[in-house]
Amino acid sequence: MKNLVLIGGGHSHAIALRLWGRSPVPGVRLTLITDSAYTPYSGILPGHLGGIYTFQECPINLAALAQFAQAHLVLDSAMGLDLEQNRVLCDRHPSISFD
Ligand SMILES: Cc1cc2nc3c(=O)[nH]c(=O)nc-3n(C[C@H](O)[C@H](O)[C@H](O)COP(=O)(O)OP(=O)(O)OC[C@H]3O[C@@H](n4cnc5c(N)ncnc54)[C@H](O)[C@@H]3O)c2cc1C
Repeated sequence: MKNLVLIGGGHSHAIALRLWGRSPVPGVRLTLITDSAYTPYSGILPGHLGGIYTFQECPINLAALAQFAQAHLVLDSAMGLDLEQNRVLCDRHPSISFD
């Protein structure tokens, strides 16, 4: 198994999770490290300001997306990389191995 670790749950990785869920890569374990379980969807902001969408409808639920992608979700901040051991150093969790 190879370990692919995504740091940050922004737009790019939200899209990556959705695509991964539809077409996972065999032999690769996916981990998302994100400091928030929800990420704001900027594209919906004008609709929210215009009263079309409620605030609750604006964020993307990363936990649900991670589940869809069968990714391991780590709610934490990445603090650094150990490039000798190939590990992501986290604030509150043990370090996470990556390839
Ligand atoms: C109001 C607004 C409207 C926009 N409208 C459009 C649009 O219509 N079309 C378009 O193409 N683009 C739009 N954009 C731009 C688009 O939102 C960005 O290009 C996109 O969000 C970038 O994605 P990203 O994943 O690289 O970064 P981000 O979305 O910024 O995500 C980074 C994530 O990483 C997290 N993070 C950072 N450091 C750490 C750490 N150390 N550990 C863990 N997590 C961490 C942050 O909390 C964040 O959730 C808009 C932006 C704004 C603000």
